Amino acid sequence: MSDIIHLLPDAVANQIAAGEVIQRPASAVKELMENALDAGATHIQLIVKDAGKTLIQIIDNGSGMSETDARLSFERHATSKITQANDLFCIRTMGFRGEALASIAAIAHVELKTKLHDAGLGTQIIIEGSDVKTQEACQFSGGTSIAVKNLFYNVPARRNFLKSDVLEANHILEEFHRIALINPSIAFSYHHNGKLIYQLEKSNLKQRIVNIFGKNYTERLILVEQETNIVKFHGFIGKPEFAKKTRGEQYFFVNKRFFKHPYLHHAVDNAFQELLPEKSFPAYFINFDINPKEIDINIHPTKTEIKFQDEKTMYALLRSVVKQSIGKFNIAPSIDFEVEHSLNLMPPPKDYDVKLPSIKIDPTFNPFEEKNKKSYSPPKPTEREQRNLQNWEKIFEERKSDNSMLISSYSEKQQSFENESDAGFKVPLNYSFFQLQNRYIISSIKSGLIVIDQQSAHERILYEQFIETINEHNAVSQQQLFPQTLVFTPSDSELLKELKNEMALLGFDINEFGLNTFIVNGIPANMADENIKYLIEGMLENFKKNMISVKVDKKNNLALSMAKNMAIKPGKLLIQEEIQNLIDKLFACKMPYQSPSGKKILITITLDELTEKFK
Ligand code: ADP
Ligand code: MG
Repeated sequence: MSDIIHLLPDAVANQIAAGEVIQRPASAVKELMENALDAGATHIQLIVKDAGKTLIQIIDNGSGMSETDARLSFERHATSKITQANDLFCIRTMGFRGEALASIAAIAHVELKTKLHDAGLGTQIIIEGSDVKTQEACQFSGGTSIAVKNLFYNVPARRNFLKSDVLEANHILEEFHRIALINPSIAFSYHHNGKLIYQLEKSNLKQRIVNIFGKNYTERLILVEQETNIVKFHGFIGKPEFAKKTRGEQYFFVNKRFFKHPYLHHAVDNAFQELLPEKSFPAYFINFDINPKEIDINIHPTKTEIKFQDEKTMYALLRSVVKQSIGKFNIAPSIDFEVEHSLNLMPPPKDYDVKLPSIKIDPTFNPFEEKNKKSYSPPKPTEREQRNLQNWEKIFEERKSDNSMLISSYSEKQQSFENESDAGFKVPLNYSFFQLQNRYIISSIKSGLIVIDQQSAHERILYEQFIETINEHNAVSQQQLFPQTLVFTPSDSELLKELKNEMALLGFDINEFGLNTFIVNGIPANMADENIKYLIEGMLENFKKNMISVKVDKKNNLALSMAKNMAIKPGKLLIQEEIQNLIDKLFACKMPYQSPSGKKILITITLDELTEKFK
């Protein structure tokens, strides 16, 4: 048999290898921004179109490249950052594998312009699928611009695998955060689809955090600073009272490179200990400055894990420094000279029209007019009422014939319920329920006991209500007397903009007002207006999670996310009326047995099962 092994052409090899380095537009953003950092840029612009699917461009004022280097930079394993194996142990640059540009060029249309600062002319290279189309001299200011168009144009499988623009744009934003946060001395800008998302001037770490995550952070941060003989910590932690219900801003960096580390994360968590309410997450932004010898630097470009030589010591040091910082803050919490005195709430613009709540009255209405006089024929059961009854009947079947089984106290009113029920549609308002551990609602039924999960039940009720509101276009908006100005994180802002129309169908009246800022004029009528920002943030968080875990359309997801967010939680004491109301509404639902997120709402425990337990 003849020899069958042959070397793959470079273009094919590059394309295969590209899959490991560039998984989605955000990976290209990361690699290119890191190259700009390595080139010593002090100003980096990121320009993205269609979540990076159409264009990713990075313009830097770093070193630039010579004509030859520009051409070489697209070769695999071409790097200026290491020359020998030993260099691996003192790496301080972000890249060193020489894979990124080769990978990107293999799967996109790339246009590079670059010029050394002291050269007269720059060079321009156009390369498609590893194929150099042209290289010629060009005018350019010192530095590099690299435009990556039509990512994965020749790898349809990858392209199809990409998620929605919202999700991919979120990944890009996250990479941008990870790099911009820890490089405050570098100015960054970020445009998406022609809109300026960030313009970050050179500043210090604290200002950078505030500029990225919002002015609210000004008063939320505690300095973390400590130098030991193996590591120097610098950064900020969020004050315990601002810990979020969802894992939010948690950033570790080692030598200014973002990394994840569950074990060290635990050290921070542990340092906060009792200061945090249950299931809430503190914010942190901490850089570990450490000799590269102390860490395993052989990091794969897509990996964010880092290994330290001595993890236990690192844990102990980190925990102690965070604890100390919290301690210091608790002793002298208020004076913070670094804070710029800025108001948290931006006043509305001068020409902003403040809407007052309005009540509509019909001045011509005359109750004595013939057509307005109500006759006394009993109202017909609505569809909802009928459904309620049917659902009840399923659970309480044969109830009337066997009252002896009911352990709960039947009140006299029970009688009236039965009469009403006979009349056709009234809900069993006086059934006896009690709440167990502020979490479950219990009642007896013929076959034994019924246990209802209050949270899931409420979730179901709200979900069906929201879906109906959306479909019927009958939202009632509660107009705010004093419209609130709220600042969201950039990713939440993008999502808010995208969901604006659907949210309006639910009764939200929200207007965009400058960078990541929104004015809330109205909220759904049944929504508490105490902490609107918290509610909206929670809803968006759920929305994002659902985008990944459940395949539902925007409207359903919105209804689901709102329902989840607004549902009463375990631990909420309900008074008897509230319980009745909840049960009534639950059984009027189309699907009273399962929560919209798929959990059981109620279970029954039969008498047989109970008897079994007493044996
Ligand atoms: P690596 O960063 O691992 O060296 P890359 O493929 O990302 O590999 O880049 C290859 C080389 O191209 C780099 O080592 C660097 O010399 C050069 N290069 C890439 N991007 C830039 C840039 N923005 N400015 C200057 N030089 C660059
Ligand atoms: Mg690189």
